Amino acid sequence: MMKEFHCGSLVPGCEWHTRHEEEAEVMRRAVEHMREVHGETIIRESMIEAIRSRIVQQQDAA
Ligand SMILES: [Zn+2]
Repeated sequence: MMKEFHCGSLVPGCEWHTRHEEEAEVMRRAVEHMREVHGETIIRESMIEAIRSRIVQQQDAA
């Protein structure tokens, strides 16, 4: 089961998304993206929660 995060669900208009088996890795990449692309130099707990709540399980669409 893959976990997926679409930045556009948090930052309207952003096309970036990431996908990984591990939620922790999705979080890590998302935080890195926030920092590098959206200039969020300070990642607050509320941001972490916002990202986590938007991570979706991706069903295998075979
Ligand atoms: Zn983004």
